[in-house]
This record gives sequence, structure tokens and C-alpha cells, in this order.
Amino acid sequence: MSYLYIIEELYNQLNDVEEHGEVATYIRELSHIDSDKFGVCLIDSDNQYHQVGDSDEPFSIQSIAKVLSLTLAYKMAGESLWDRIGVEPSGSPFNSLVQLEYDNGIPRNPFINAGAIVVCDYLISQLDQPEDEFISFVRRVSKNEQINYSEEIAASEKATGYRNAALINLMKDFGNIRNDIGKVLDFYFLLCSIKMSCRELARTFLYLMNYGKDPETGEQVISLSKTKRINAIMQTCGFYDEAGEFSFKVGLPGKSGVGGGIIAVHPKQYSIAVWSPRLNKKGNSWKGMQFLERFTTKTEQSIF
Ligand code: GLN
Repeated sequence: MSYLYIIEELYNQLNDVEEHGEVATYIRELSHIDSDKFGVCLIDSDNQYHQVGDSDEPFSIQSIAKVLSLTLAYKMAGESLWDRIGVEPSGSPFNSLVQLEYDNGIPRNPFINAGAIVVCDYLISQLDQPEDEFISFVRRVSKNEQINYSEEIAASEKATGYRNAALINLMKDFGNIRNDIGKVLDFYFLLCSIKMSCRELARTFLYLMNYGKDPETGEQVISLSKTKRINAIMQTCGFYDEAGEFSFKVGLPGKSGVGGGIIAVHPKQYSIAVWSPRLNKKGNSWKGMQFLERFTTKTEQSIF
């Protein structure tokens, strides 16, 4: 059975299933999205694209961008990055404050908001023009000059970003933020606002399915060893307090965003992006999780 056959079958099945979950509303711009959107794109190791539904429509990738900022920061900082951020699953919601105080302002991992904010702080310290240089990096990795931030979504998140403000203030107090907190938060909101379609997302993340190397251009985006580690963090922390569940049911390294997107990679096999905006209680796409669980079950391919 071809990937496309399976994707189409599961897409049709899930279109008939009663919808669960709610679109994120705490970022006002995200609440306007049509909750019935549903798209999937898989790119296999022969660079064949298999896609269905709304797979060419750009949406806000939100926390999926944290993988890209981590890639750039880890490439630049090397292992010293882990002096300021852990690599342990948090078992807590993405915006939780409680652990951070116990852990003296060191976030558990780079994918919870606190960890991604420290990554932003590091990039601001290292780059002359962080906003321009980061989007240039994303465009290079995605081989797409059209990829951009959404100023509207970033501004909308900033307007109600009280929890992220609380997180950064706490970390600043512990000495784990080096730059002006307003500047760091603005950069964080901007990177979360990046828009991509499922097709563009699956394309962008090919380097993580191919041991750090872009399969099309041959560029080594990041080393083999660091790729292994980024995939490991996606496996253990990519879905916050649902990371165990995603591992258990889907069994792939992946990352979700509150825009309803999920990216997952099967090393050496494929990169797959799914988008459906209704989120479960943990802030992960309800249908996206369902789709990927059925997909890895049906294909009987596993990294385990
Ligand atoms: N920008 C969002 C926030 O900070 C990202 C959260 C997410 O996608 N899980 O709340």
C-alpha cells in the first residue's frame, strides 16, 4: 500500500469522525481560523510528496518553530547550551510556572515556553540582527524565500502574553536571561508567529529525517550527533505533558504547536506534517494526534 493510499484513507475516515477539541483562543488571531481545516503532507526518502486536504494552506506554526530556533542555537552554542536549559520531559503544560521556581530558573527542556525563551535570549546575545538572521536561517532550511513571520499574530500574542511575561521575569530574577525582557519576548512571539503550510513544514524538517543533511541540496544543516539529540528531545518533550502518550501511540519524534500543526519524522523514511486546529486539553491537535496514531499503526513502520 502506498503512503498516498493510506493518507487518503485515513483522511476520509477522520473527516467522518465527530470532532473533538477547541481552537486556541488565548491568542486572539488564532481564534479566527476555520476549525474544520485539515491537511496532511508526507515527503518520503525518494523526495516524493504525498498530500491531501488543506496541505497547501499556510497556518501559524507556533511552537513547532522552537525546533528551528533550537537547531540554530545548538549549532552555535554546542553543549554549553545545556548549562542554561535541561533535556528532561517536564510532565507539565507548556506554559507552566511551577517547576521553574523549584529548578532555580533553569527550564526543563527547550520546547516548553520557558526553555524556548532562553533559546531566544541566547540568539539575541549572539546575533546582530536576530529577527532577520533567524528568518534567513528558516528560509535556507526550508528552501523557501517566501516563509515569513506574521506581525498580526505576534502582536496578538503580545497583547495577552501574561504567562510568558511571568516566565521570563522569573528567569530574569534567577539570572538566566541576559537581555532586556521586552526584547526577548518580542523575538519569542515573532518566531512563534511564522506561517507555513503542511507541505512547507514537511519540507523544512527533512534535515531531521536525514541525519542533519538536506537530502535535496546536500547541505549539512546540523551535525549527525546534534540531529540525534534534537530528535531525542522531540521524542521525549515535543508534546509537553502528553509526550509519553504521543510516544506510546505514535512512536515518532515530533513537535506540536497551538496553531494545530504537528510535525513528525521517521529517520531515513519520511517527514510528515498534519494540520487540524482543534486542540485537546493538552494543547495538541486532536485530529493530528488521531491521524498519526492511525498512520503509524497502518504502515507498521516504527523506530522502536
Ligand atoms: N506562542 C505560544 C505560547 O507561547 C506557543 C505555545 C505552543 O504552541 N504550544 O503560548
